Amino acid sequence: MEGLMMEFPLLVKTIMSHAERNHPQQEIVSVTADNPLHRYTFEECFSRVRKLANVFDKIGAGGDARIATLAWNDYRHMELYFSVSCSGRVCHTINPRLYTEQLIYIINHAVDEFIFTDIMFVELLEEIVVHCPQIKGCVIMSDAKHMPETTLPNPMCYETLLQDESDEHEWPELDENTAAVLCYTSGTTGKPKGVLYSHRSTVLHTYGQALPDTMGISALDCVFPIVPMFHVGAWGFPFAGTMVGTKFVMPGPSATLSEPKLLVDLINNEGVTISAGVPTVWLPILKYTEETGRHLKPLRKVAIGGSACPLSMMEEFRDLYGVQVVHAWGMTETNPLGAVNNHKPATVILRGEELDRHMQSAGRAIPGVQLKIVDDDGEELPWDGVAYGALKVRGPWVCATYFKLEEASDAHSEKGWFDTGDVATIDSEGFIRITDRTKDVIKSGGEWISSIELENIAMGNKAVAEAAVIGIHDPRWQERPLLVVVKSDGTEVEARELIHYFEGKVAKWWIPDDVVFVDEIPHTATGKISKLALRSMFADYTLPESAER
Ligand code: AMP
Repeated sequence: MEGLMMEFPLLVKTIMSHAERNHPQQEIVSVTADNPLHRYTFEECFSRVRKLANVFDKIGAGGDARIATLAWNDYRHMELYFSVSCSGRVCHTINPRLYTEQLIYIINHAVDEFIFTDIMFVELLEEIVVHCPQIKGCVIMSDAKHMPETTLPNPMCYETLLQDESDEHEWPELDENTAAVLCYTSGTTGKPKGVLYSHRSTVLHTYGQALPDTMGISALDCVFPIVPMFHVGAWGFPFAGTMVGTKFVMPGPSATLSEPKLLVDLINNEGVTISAGVPTVWLPILKYTEETGRHLKPLRKVAIGGSACPLSMMEEFRDLYGVQVVHAWGMTETNPLGAVNNHKPATVILRGEELDRHMQSAGRAIPGVQLKIVDDDGEELPWDGVAYGALKVRGPWVCATYFKLEEASDAHSEKGWFDTGDVATIDSEGFIRITDRTKDVIKSGGEWISSIELENIAMGNKAVAEAAVIGIHDPRWQERPLLVVVKSDGTEVEARELIHYFEGKVAKWWIPDDVVFVDEIPHTATGKISKLALRSMFADYTLPESAER
């Protein structure tokens, strides 16, 4: 029909050009292996983004090549995000914490042509690339002075490549459905699966993310993504922050768990207002602030997701530091944000236990995303906060199929919907509660017990530093819950006390049958509790006969 709006493809370059035009002096501050505090502006960033696109042409990267990154969050990684995607290529972000065999598999499956690596991953990469014959070269993200000796094929220095390059580059006019970013699932069972984000899905996700009831970020914010850029695009913050013109603080290698002081220094010195990360990232930070009495004054909110955020963590942030926790749900397959817990009129009035319960919800659908829960026959279940079933999702930033997957995926068996593999309830206000991953739910006497809910309760006990619950085979009940605990430093607590702690908080038959204390709980490559590793650790475990059920 005549008289319509312009046809204007949704391309990542529109995010970049808007930021360059409107926020050229905004800052990006980064910790890198070759500079403890690098600082420059959006203007300088995008000039280098264009230089980098010229470098890709010069080193012979194909027009739609997959270019891999093995890197922490910093300004060079940001440059790659934009340059690779805007030039029509695909930015394949690799999680260095995957097993060597998985890394080899995904690099070969993606047919990556070049790999851009941080200095600290050079040794790891040397081991891997000998098994990846298609790699044409490796670029080390460093200046010439810090270049390491290496056996990598065709090694190049990032800064040397950029040094004499022109900062003029004509970006191609791409179709908005062109692939922009490639991310593999962490593949705890089976091979990792590739999820391809298009320019269109990325731009729409970026708009959705910035909304007040999603992350609510503005040009006055300073964003600090602790969630790595190799894990689902740091939950979209590099694109959303750029679009709205926030200041960025990038933690580089200090995002690892061992450096809470550095992270707290960055928050306070740089005026960070919003940060994001999985729950395990915050444990050492909160422990450090509590021990040292340091504040987190500039911080106004933290996005926590990727696994259930314990209530005790939300309360600590709120009550000790005045920080709002934005509890979010999503997955690699959803770009990743699907639902975010922000209030509605019906929930903002809640107090006491009702509010506590509400805070543990993983949120409501971001506009654009549709959710439903279904029973075993695929029948849709009511939104009553009680019925639980398989959580399905659809929308413009939900994966339609996996990248080059040979066999059909069960997750896509219902046309037009993606089965998340999560079990959830949805209440009348649209808030979801993730009960478990389908394979982690504990089946006891024909009923289900939520391991997440038990973990949340255990985390509320001061003696517990970290908790995980798994199902243990039981001849009578099929499975019973076992609580695995890392004790807080210097605390003494007995299994019996922890079991009593659950009384009155859940139905009697939900209470774990036993508690095992461990020095460490295993985590996955994305920092979540690895139930798979725990189940194999306790494969021969027998529950005590005496447990009351
Ligand atoms: P990944 O693709 O590695 O990001 O993992 C996605 C999975 O993480 C989801 O399917 C959920 O099982 C889990 N997850 C993400 N956010 C939450 C949350 N807020 N509460 C509970 N589980 C979550």
